[in-house]
Amino acid sequence: MKFATKAIHEGQPPDPSTNAVIIPIYQSTTFAQEELGKHKGYSYSRVSNPTRKALEENIASLEEGSFALAFSSGLAAIHAVASILKANDHILLSENTYGGTFRLFDKIISQYGVKYNFFNPTQLEDLENKILPETKMVFTESPTNPLMIITDLKKVSDICKKHNILHVTDNTFMTPYFQKPLNLGCDIVIHSSTKYLNGHSDVIGGIVVMNDEDIFNKIRFTQYALGAIPSPFDCWLVLRSIKTLAVRMRQHNENAMIIAEFLQKYSNVKKVFYPGLIQHPQHKLAKEQMTGFGGMLSLDLGSLEKAKNFLKTLKLFTTAESLGGVESLAAHPATMTHASLPKEERERLGITDGLVRLSVGIEDVEDLIDDLKIALEQI
Ligand SMILES: *Cc1c(COP(=O)(O)O)cnc(C)c1O
Repeated sequence: MKFATKAIHEGQPPDPSTNAVIIPIYQSTTFAQEELGKHKGYSYSRVSNPTRKALEENIASLEEGSFALAFSSGLAAIHAVASILKANDHILLSENTYGGTFRLFDKIISQYGVKYNFFNPTQLEDLENKILPETKMVFTESPTNPLMIITDLKKVSDICKKHNILHVTDNTFMTPYFQKPLNLGCDIVIHSSTKYLNGHSDVIGGIVVMNDEDIFNKIRFTQYALGAIPSPFDCWLVLRSIKTLAVRMRQHNENAMIIAEFLQKYSNVKKVFYPGLIQHPQHKLAKEQMTGFGGMLSLDLGSLEKAKNFLKTLKLFTTAESLGGVESLAAHPATMTHASLPKEERERLGITDGLVRLSVGIEDVEDLIDDLKIALEQI
């Protein structure tokens, strides 16, 4: 079966108890036991729940992985993956990784004696040089937020295999529709399903997908031992949303490409960051490992003042955190998503005060362009 068919059907045969075509929201904490220890595979909903199981099977199939586990947020998913590390283990984090991921490793996981260092994902010698005997995990994200830097997932996976290290990658921006990291050699794929998988800005959720059964059992243990599970209703909403993932991603991609090309020609815009542009320094690599470029792009307007004016004038693009929904959003990384970084560190990474990030929605692109044009005239 191909992607869109799997997205609509995998993990969701008609419900065996009633033949309901849509899986019910199994809003039950507990399940009757016919006799002691005898049940239909469900005992208590922290451990497993039929609506959650349908979601997990569906996403495992889309990522072409053997197992998936659903969590109450993307960060809960990342925490569960980190829980397979022990004191004195070392992890290499890609520079430019999502701020919450950095905060989790820096402020929480490090308290348990797990050490971390950053590496530059565009210089793989840097990765090799930083590997220590204690390094157990390499964590990447491609493309990165907000500069759309691409990591060569296959090459990183090869380096990790050589050193017996797990390669974990955050596939939130691309979704399995455009990028399948397990097929490129990654061991574990993470999603904030809050973003494109759910796509309607109304659920916080996270997903972990993997092939290895031992890793699955460890992370599944954390899932029920820690209990950061999504509600049956949230699982149902994400399942419902995934049915349209293929058409949404195609439209996000088409709109973002048109907007990137429009911005690129606009004299008020200093620079556009979108992997679909041939001017993107890693366009060739992006084309090799992705089948599309997604709906996220950034533009540099040159100053805080101009970024402020731009955001204030936009009407269809709402200024807000988050991304990946059907509606277009705009954000200012220096004061919003990356505000916790010191200014020098932001500048070193290229997150300037004039940088604006757009999550391009699936509205009519002509309307989005009109909105951008008016705002660019005002800056
Ligand atoms: C939002 C996001 C996360 C965190 O997910 P939550 O669902 O907010 O916990 C992790 N990685 C990326 C790339 C994200 O965009």
